[in-house]
Amino acid sequence: MHKVGILGAGAMGAGIAQVAATAGWSVQLIDVDLDTATRAIEGVSARLKRSVDKGRINQETATAIQKRLHASTVSELSECDLFIEAIVEDMDIKVSAMLPVVEAIPNSSIIATNTSSLSVSELGQRLGQAHRTCGMHFFNPAPVMRLVEVVKGSRTNPENVDRVADIALSWGKQVARCADTPGFIVNRVARPYYLEAFRCLEEGIDGPDAIDDVMKRLGGFRMGPFELTDFIGHDVNTATTRTVWEQWNRPTRLTPSFAQEQLVAEGTLGRKTGCGVYDWSGEAPVAVLGPAQECCTVNASVVSAARLFAEGVGQSTAFTDRQSVALTRILSAVINEASWALHDGVADQADIDIAMQAGVNYPHGPFAWAEHIGLDLVAETLAVLNTTTDDGRFVTPPVSN
Ligand code: NAD
Repeated sequence: MHKVGILGAGAMGAGIAQVAATAGWSVQLIDVDLDTATRAIEGVSARLKRSVDKGRINQETATAIQKRLHASTVSELSECDLFIEAIVEDMDIKVSAMLPVVEAIPNSSIIATNTSSLSVSELGQRLGQAHRTCGMHFFNPAPVMRLVEVVKGSRTNPENVDRVADIALSWGKQVARCADTPGFIVNRVARPYYLEAFRCLEEGIDGPDAIDDVMKRLGGFRMGPFELTDFIGHDVNTATTRTVWEQWNRPTRLTPSFAQEQLVAEGTLGRKTGCGVYDWSGEAPVAVLGPAQECCTVNASVVSAARLFAEGVGQSTAFTDRQSVALTRILSAVINEASWALHDGVADQADIDIAMQAGVNYPHGPFAWAEHIGLDLVAETLAVLNTTTDDGRFVTPPVSN
């Protein structure tokens, strides 16, 4: 039986342990002490019991999965094929906790980190193990979310990247391979979905209900940008935006939204505090954040471009021009960010599309969206948005030969 050692038995480590054990791997779960790891395994067992109660798995399967989960210590990792780190997001703490692991595991085993925002290359180099250190970026909750971003550090041996990708696939995940860059794929390409929606709100293009509505019913997204950020939590969402924006040297495209940061400053963080863009205290959410400037005029050439773009997306006749403008701006900005990510060498088109579909449930990947809408139409729309916007955030990447 294959063995994986997992350091960190929090939300992610416990979830990854469940995924690996479900796929038939023996799991050694480690935390600051055995009790913490044991409690995490009890948490997984409780989840498995709920799955049995709901008829999703049978008792025999649940028992077999539980038997493969072991609370462990670093010194017991001498036979693991793979080691995954999922502790606190701090480079120095990760390095000091992982150095003893490097001593304990076989030379042939792969070292993976679940980091969302730290450099995989720097971690590998500081461990003295750059050739066998990769990113294995799961999404929360790991047993439910389909995607793993497999990250190649600048000096990771490609064979080790292939092995990690194969393991993730054998664990039932979809894999998107990417370079070691800030936000990897998903946390970068998804930014404009939130940011451009807030910019539409700030400019008074339309209200949250109308924008969420068009993104769901015409765009096919499961959640509109405002209900989604209320669900994620504006503190978490803006922190990711800030990190990605800073690490990419503050491109205008990814500039944090003033209105969203204001929500954080006021402690209206979304569903978890009962209020964010919407008030969630009643039976149905009620928008509390309105358009900043009621009835702003929208540039006529943008409206014309948005009508064509929205028609390219689908049956747009049931939506107002303002809704079409919001959809056009948000979706074009996502497609443009995907193009910049491609240009920056983050990943190839297929991996970016897989990542956005499996990682954040987009109805299509950004490149598939662009094909569907029409590449020329998307290019023309971005050109109109660029000439009518003064901060340059719709500038497209240079075309490579
Ligand atoms: P968490 O706070 O839920 O769990 C972290 C665990 O690590 C805790 O149980 C803690 O006791 C343990 N720990 C801390 N220092 C340790 C040490 N020196 N030795 C052993 N154990 C130690 O955190 P999390 O949300 O599971 O995140 C873990 C990692 O996964 C982070 O790098 C985070 O960026 C990344 N990540 C988080 C999410 C998410 O949505 N939570 C998603 C993807 C990636």
